[in-house]
Amino acid sequence: MREHRLLPILTEERAATVPFFGLDTLWLQLAGTLCNIACRHCFITCGPKEDRVPMMTRARLEELLLEARELGVKEFYFTGGEPMLHPEFFAVVERTLKEGPTHVLTNGMLIDESAAQRLRDLFDGSRYSLDVRVSLDGMTAEENDPVRGRGTFAAITQGIRHLAAVGLSPVLTVVEHADALRLSEARSEFLRFARSLGLAQPRVKFLPLLRIGRETRRTHGYGTGDVVHEPLPPEVIRTLQCNSSRLATQAHVLVCPLLLDAPDAQLGRTLTESLRPISLRWSACHTCVEEGLSCRT
Ligand code: SF4
Ligand code: SF4
Repeated sequence: MREHRLLPILTEERAATVPFFGLDTLWLQLAGTLCNIACRHCFITCGPKEDRVPMMTRARLEELLLEARELGVKEFYFTGGEPMLHPEFFAVVERTLKEGPTHVLTNGMLIDESAAQRLRDLFDGSRYSLDVRVSLDGMTAEENDPVRGRGTFAAITQGIRHLAAVGLSPVLTVVEHADALRLSEARSEFLRFARSLGLAQPRVKFLPLLRIGRETRRTHGYGTGDVVHEPLPPEVIRTLQCNSSRLATQAHVLVCPLLLDAPDAQLGRTLTESLRPISLRWSACHTCVEEGLSCRT
């Protein structure tokens, strides 16, 4: 338990403050920390035996969705762990699509022909958009599997092909875990690769590496100088997802999806309790500010 804790590196008084502009985006930690794989760079240390954050119940989801409606939330993101491990995953997505545009972040490994068709049916049956995001960390097994696990490249790309076969075009997300992925050519190469998987109009999102969670053992964590200093320019403040989004788990509402393991990122149990400015006192804030990281699509 202890190794998962993410402690602040600045006091509230010394940290830059981010105002809160209103709750636009709600992240839902549907599967808690349970995942079918255990990626070596996973910033929230999920895995098949990671149950420290429990799955979300339907009752909790309902409570959050009703409060979100009152607050005018505009879109919902399901994350985990692996959200598709939730026993009521499809019913949960169907229910959420009645409230607004919904995004599902998945590793794609559980998307067989039948799951792809069910997602397509949900897509067709909703007046709001359903967007699927699949994480893949390389264009070959040699690039991807050392980070995500043996055999994952084949399983993930199969899931993407199943989505493509029913006419869904997921966003592929790639973590910049190796130098080659930080090069500008990597983006165009990845788009070509996505087309080869059957995606007619591919979208690829590159994500800077977060040096928290399991990544601290694969490479290293943040240094003592990786802090966010005041003053924060308004144009930077506008890019930060913590100015208008929150993460909800079964028990808490937290500042953002990156700080699941930070005890002092918990703002209360309800969304209403979480609607306040926050101070950027965690090391991960450095990546958001310096590298422009935002988890939104
Ligand atoms: S990075 Fe995603 S797929 Fe990998 S262990 Fe973490 S939650 Fe699971
Ligand atoms: S980690 Fe990023 S999103 Fe979260 S509070 Fe810090 S700056 Fe905001």
